[in-house]
Amino acid sequence: MNFTYEAGPARVVLRPGAAVTATAHEVERLGLRRVLVISGARGADVARRVADSLGPLCAGLHDEARMHVPAQVADRAVEVARETGADGCVAVGGGSATGLGKMVALRTGLPLLAVPTTYSGSEMTPVWGLTEHGGKRTGRDPAVLPRSVVYDPELTLSLPVGLSVTSGVNAVAHAVEALYAPDGNPLVSLMAEEGVRAMTSALAVIAERPSDLEARGRALYGAWLCGSCLGATAMGLHHKLCHVLGGTFGLPHAETHTVVLPYVLAYNAPAAPEAVRSLRRALGAEDAPLALWNLAGRLGAPRSLARLGLKESDLAVAAERAAGQGYANPREVTVEGVLGVLRAAYEGEAPGAGESAGAAFDG
Ligand code: NAD
Repeated sequence: MNFTYEAGPARVVLRPGAAVTATAHEVERLGLRRVLVISGARGADVARRVADSLGPLCAGLHDEARMHVPAQVADRAVEVARETGADGCVAVGGGSATGLGKMVALRTGLPLLAVPTTYSGSEMTPVWGLTEHGGKRTGRDPAVLPRSVVYDPELTLSLPVGLSVTSGVNAVAHAVEALYAPDGNPLVSLMAEEGVRAMTSALAVIAERPSDLEARGRALYGAWLCGSCLGATAMGLHHKLCHVLGGTFGLPHAETHTVVLPYVLAYNAPAAPEAVRSLRRALGAEDAPLALWNLAGRLGAPRSLARLGLKESDLAVAAERAAGQGYANPREVTVEGVLGVLRAAYEGEAPGAGESAGAAFDG
């Protein structure tokens, strides 16, 4: 055994109704008196309810969050935070609203609280992202880690099944890569295995009964665990590849993670036996990549990059870019290897079954 573990300072509250019954208490616990509530336009109704529950603790509602935090959107939110004299921010929404809250926290030093409405897990990480000059930059800073996270399963009842499944698999991807991360540790592995178990079992129920509050709560519990894994470890090929596909080709974030994960796992599996054992236990299946691919199919999620709009001629560029960045991965990342992963993901065939998936095992 040889590891370093640093626990994030975040406090977590999870219960039905918590968004309107617990957020004010969390704001007060931090000694804040005027917080700016941040959301996207589509999530403004929910954010308004949270803002109303805050009463005089609310300095205003800013509902201009957009996917991948464009620079001008971040500039405007910082301006609004200053104009309203806010002493903290509450992000209500998915990774996009949390991402905007993080940029305000980074630029102003204001403490951030998060009330997540998807399963992407951003609320548990000190990772921020900003899109400018046609590219997305990311960084780590403890200042952007939310001080308190209020998980309310009732807020996720409106999350359509499709988005529930893809954002849930996005969370699973964090746990998968944490299981073979070079800076992993026994606690992260426990959280990752339990996160995958909780999330995948919850998604199966949500796809059948979207209004099942117990399953919605279990999915948020999974999001918490998987997000914590992302916050604690360095991610590998899967996250780099999805970053390239989103940043360079504009592919949708959660859907791309859902399509790519089984193929990257099949590629990395021979070099990560311990991670594969954990995933077999969590998924209750012998073949973990195939189990993830089957799950996506059963739950109606997209399974091919072609269906997400990627062109065959983009594959070589994406492979070059994803292989050309320095990062840790259990298996050597070669352009040929990534191209094999991408071809298989483009076709959407079962991982490890066809010629192109076979090519992924070369090199
Ligand atoms: P999102 O926040 O972009 O939301 C997706 C869509 O779902 C939006 O249209 C939103 O309005 C809608 N929506 C959200 N919650 C809803 C609900 N409960 N009911 C109905 N509709 C709802 O999606 P996301 O997948 O949560 O976040 C993606 C973004 O987060 C990306 O920019 C990604 O890079 C970032 N991210 C960052 C981290 C990190 O650690 N920094 C981790 C994961 C994701």
